[in-house]
Parts: sequence; C-alpha cells; structure tokens
Amino acid sequence: MRIKNHPLPAISAGTSRQITSLHFGHAKTTQKVYIQSSLHADEIPGMLVSHYLRQSLLALEQADAIAGEIVLVPVANPIGLAQDIQGSAFGRFDLATGINFNRAYQYLTPLLIEKLTGRLGSNERENTALIRREALAILAQWQSSNEASALKKTLQSLAIDADIVLDLHCDNQAVMHLYTGTPLAKATMPLARYLGARALLLSVLSGDDPFDESCSRHWWELAQHFGSETPIALGCQAVTIELRGESDLTHGFALQDANAILQFLMQAGHIDGDAMPMPEALCQATPLEGSEPISAPHAGALVFTKNVGDLVAAGESIGDVIDPISGKVTPLISSVAGVLYARVARRYAQHGMRVAKIAGALAYRSGNLLSM
Ligand SMILES: [Zn+2]
Repeated sequence: MRIKNHPLPAISAGTSRQITSLHFGHAKTTQKVYIQSSLHADEIPGMLVSHYLRQSLLALEQADAIAGEIVLVPVANPIGLAQDIQGSAFGRFDLATGINFNRAYQYLTPLLIEKLTGRLGSNERENTALIRREALAILAQWQSSNEASALKKTLQSLAIDADIVLDLHCDNQAVMHLYTGTPLAKATMPLARYLGARALLLSVLSGDDPFDESCSRHWWELAQHFGSETPIALGCQAVTIELRGESDLTHGFALQDANAILQFLMQAGHIDGDAMPMPEALCQATPLEGSEPISAPHAGALVFTKNVGDLVAAGESIGDVIDPISGKVTPLISSVAGVLYARVARRYAQHGMRVAKIAGALAYRSGNLLSM
C-alpha cells in the first residue's frame, strides 16, 4: 500500500488540512478503481466500510491479486468533518461558501470537445487513453478559489481516469440504494445485486454537477457528439452508494458491504479470482425522474406509518403531519407506486420540507432532480 497526502490550501493562518489516498496493487494493467467515503462528512457508514476494504485490499495486494490499481480515500472531506457546531455535525455544506460538498464539480464535456475535435481515431482503446489524459489536463488547470473547491479538484483528479468510481454515502433513514448514469444501468446491476440494493436510480443529468456524474457523464456525451466513426467507450462507471441510514453503522453491515464491493470488483475483473454467485436482484432500475419526494404540506409533528423498505401503492398514505396548535392532521400521500427508500430522521416538519422519497417506475419530473 502506498499512502499519498494531498495538502489543501490553509483557510486560515496556523491551520492545515490534507486528503489522504491509499493506493493498492502493483499496476500489472492500466485498470483503475477509485473508492471514496463520507464526502458528506456527517455520513459515517462508508468510513467503516473503507476500514474493512483496506484490510482486504492489503491482503489481496500481498497475494498479487489486484489487476491494476485500487485507490481508497477513507475520509474524502476533512473540511466538513471538522465542522462541528455545538455538538451537531454539519458535514453536507461548506460553512464558508454554503455550497454542498457533492455539487459543483467540473463539467468536462465542452472543454473536452474543444480539445478532442480532429484528434480521435477509430481505435476505442486509444480514444479512451486520450480522453483520460485530456480530462486530467483540464482538471490540472482548474483554478480553485477556496479550500472546498481545492478539495473538489483533488478528489475529481484522483478519480477521473478510473474505470470504476464508487462514492460511499448514506441517507437519514434508508434502505440500501444506488444512483448512477442511465447508460451505466446494466453494468451497475451486479453491484446492486451484491449489495442487496432496494433501489437503483438512473439519470443522464441530475443537475448541479454531483461527484459521480462529473466523473462519468462526459463519456456518453462525447460518444453522442462525435458519432460512431470514432468509437468512445463508457470509460467510467461512477456510482453513488447510499449505505442505508446514518445510524446503520455496525460491524456486520460494514463487513457485508465491503465484501459485496469486492465481489463486484472481482466479477468486473479488477480483482483476480472467481466471484461468488450473484444474489437475486431486490430491485429493478428506475428513473430518478420517477422518484417522488414527499413534502410536508404544512408544519407539524411528523408521524410515519410506513417504514423504509416498505412498498407503497399510488394514493397510499405514508404518515401524517400534525399541527399541534390548530389540531389539523394531514396525511402524506404518495402519488407513485414503489419502494419508500429514504425518509428524514427528524420528527418535526417545516412547511415544504421533503420528508421521504419513493422510487416510482415512471419518469415524471424534470429540472434539478437531487435534493439540496
Ligand atoms: Zn451524501
């Protein structure tokens, strides 16, 4: 294992922070996998999964069983991790700028089109190598203006030339679910099966440039732009893994999830050996445009009558909002049928607050598809 430290610019005199990446494998091939955890710094289950991944990857490295390189960043966001406000973790947004740590990554397609026009050929492998070189060169030119954007530059640069990128998050209260690009659905189904995911949410454009999409999106966009004369692979399979809820952190879950990720990497050819048989799928892929965020119609105490993982019919109630002053009780009705895959942990809802998400099968939303 090689350890690399990537210093961040000091936000204030007398302080310093860095991102640490762990590199496994002897690079027998040019294959690369990138895994990071806790980019939203208050989402901790990924750190424990990383702990078990590190142990297994060390053993695999010793057995010379890693095909190329596997990069693990167990603490992707030391800035957010230090944002503790009077006992409450505040790791989703950068306090200095107000920007979500999983938004505003570099959208590479326009600059790549400029750089690649007239330079791609008929060899897909050579095209892949050229696109990766140019993507790295564009990111190297990114003038980060503050500590948080320097963090984003570092993470995106570590991941951009990987075949597989796994971004480990969790929701408030949730069952295992995944987000990925629509063109990557088929390749991601094995991961969903090994992890036992209850929802696999797809989008070609979810909005605001989240990390996974900023690593993968340019591949299908370039293929579409340049056409079939110059073959372009789906060169990066980037997936956001939501490891259940923020309190679902146990040795058992973490060991199980780390093993599922290793089995997936084995069946994808990044680790030598025969992967375990894939368990049956617990979900089908559904469009992110079909996922319904249920909002509170007024303020009040929030009582759920459906649990995460429950199947909900269209028109069915998942809980009530109760205004303790007026006595008004309003049921929260799902307009789509599907699995209730995530809900908030807080039991007071402000007017308009998104309190739960249901994975419907039919696309009906557009615009920005992710929550804040
Ligand atoms: Zn997150």
